[in-house]
Amino acid sequence: MAVYNYDVVVLGAGPAGEGAAVNAAKLGRRVAMVEERNMVGGNCVHLGTIPSKALRYSVKQIIQFNTNPMFRVISEPRDFSFPDVLKSAEAVINLQVRSRHSYYARNRIDLFYGKGSFADANTIELVNADGAVDRLVTREVIIATGSRPYRPADIDFNHPRIYDSDTILKLNHTPRTLIIYGAGVIGCEYASIFCGLGVKVDLIHNRDRLLSFLDDEISDALSYHLRANMALIRNNEEYEKVEGLKDGGVVLHLKSGKKIKADAFLWCNGRTGNTDGLGLENVGLQANSRGQLTVDEHYRTEVPNIYAAGDVIGWPSLASAAFDQGRSAAGNIVENDSWRFVDDVPTGIYTIPEISSLGKTERELTAERVPYEVGQAFFKNTARAQISGEPVGMLKILFHRETLQVLGIHCFGDQASEIVHIGQAIMNQKGEANTIKYFVNTTFNYPTMAEAYRVAALDGLGRLF
Ligand code: FAD
Repeated sequence: MAVYNYDVVVLGAGPAGEGAAVNAAKLGRRVAMVEERNMVGGNCVHLGTIPSKALRYSVKQIIQFNTNPMFRVISEPRDFSFPDVLKSAEAVINLQVRSRHSYYARNRIDLFYGKGSFADANTIELVNADGAVDRLVTREVIIATGSRPYRPADIDFNHPRIYDSDTILKLNHTPRTLIIYGAGVIGCEYASIFCGLGVKVDLIHNRDRLLSFLDDEISDALSYHLRANMALIRNNEEYEKVEGLKDGGVVLHLKSGKKIKADAFLWCNGRTGNTDGLGLENVGLQANSRGQLTVDEHYRTEVPNIYAAGDVIGWPSLASAAFDQGRSAAGNIVENDSWRFVDDVPTGIYTIPEISSLGKTERELTAERVPYEVGQAFFKNTARAQISGEPVGMLKILFHRETLQVLGIHCFGDQASEIVHIGQAIMNQKGEANTIKYFVNTTFNYPTMAEAYRVAALDGLGRLF
């Protein structure tokens, strides 16, 4: 058994681990990264964010090809299989692994491939694929082991047509019909992808509306467009049993008595933190029932030299936040100014249409009795959207009718997750710099989707009296 010494050992090479390791190295610490998979990138690159976004991008291109009359000169509409579309995702995964690997090399971070666990608070035991064991002795540890789909014991995930969001990436055919159970962000994104491929989707969940944390108008728009793309949304339903048939299909039995049959079933209901097998008992830490660890505002666990970041600490469980949480955890170890608590995360949902938002919703402002006003811009009226043939969408700015402070930005449509950042920059300004007037007193490039801010601001200011 070899023994190595480090200042910081990071467990897990996803976005949280990468952010932590690179920052700690830049701040002069001797850093080791321990990763169970034999490649960097984490579940983000291999199973989550990147493959699903690459799939969606390809599907959007297929939709454009099949619906834009200009392409009829070239060819008739074409069907693409799921495995065909998956190939483009695989290419992006490889590119991501290559660039991310270079960050470790450039920052002189030692990479160890194997499963890490605590022998004690300063010793990580590493078991590699051949079963060989090494030990890393360290002053600090950052746990960034991420999450995996939650799998209820009563569903047979070994059935060839029952998938979760990890195993769906091994789907080797295009089902005609698909049941998606769970209409959170991941369920809605996969519903958009499969609808775009012409699959008839039943989207089932136990709430009374999709993504209820969104502004109602945006959530309604998502339901409308999913339905328009042939998804059947069934609200307020819970599963009784998922029956994998011998002929390969799946029947979903709902507590309401309904039975739904489809070629395949995709479970998208919940995730579990990867804390089992970490040897937490050897350091006096305990995960909650969802496998997640509790940290303070400095990303420190109850054990002073052990930090945690990313999906393993729960909310918001986004790659966007995980990078910054990891970076902050490392910044806190060194006590420099790269620390911040990450709580201002915009929502980015890559459904078709795309959704993004930040700040308060109309529902929240009304409940809080804040006197707000609304400014809206519809993409169909902007030159850029007309040129790009992407007329679906809207930008909505919520602002205080007396102070004019921007309180919320809600957007759906093409590039929504990019468009939101202009509003985010203004919302983050202090005092008078954060008012809706910025959008009418600033000249944006034209034609751009940024024009929607000017149009929405003029619309909103026009409602004041
Ligand atoms: P992960 O990316 O989960 O990486 C953890 C790493 O730790 C893994 O490589 C794992 O092998 C390793 N590991 C685990 N245990 C050990 C151990 N004991 N020893 C060594 N290594 C270990 N987020 C967004 O911001 N935008 C999106 O569009 C988005 N889309 C998503 C779509 C899907 C389908 C899914 C599932 C997730 C999506 N997410 C998205 C969420 C995002 O993927 C996660 O928030 C992000 O991956 C979390 O990063 P992480 O670093 O915490 O962990």
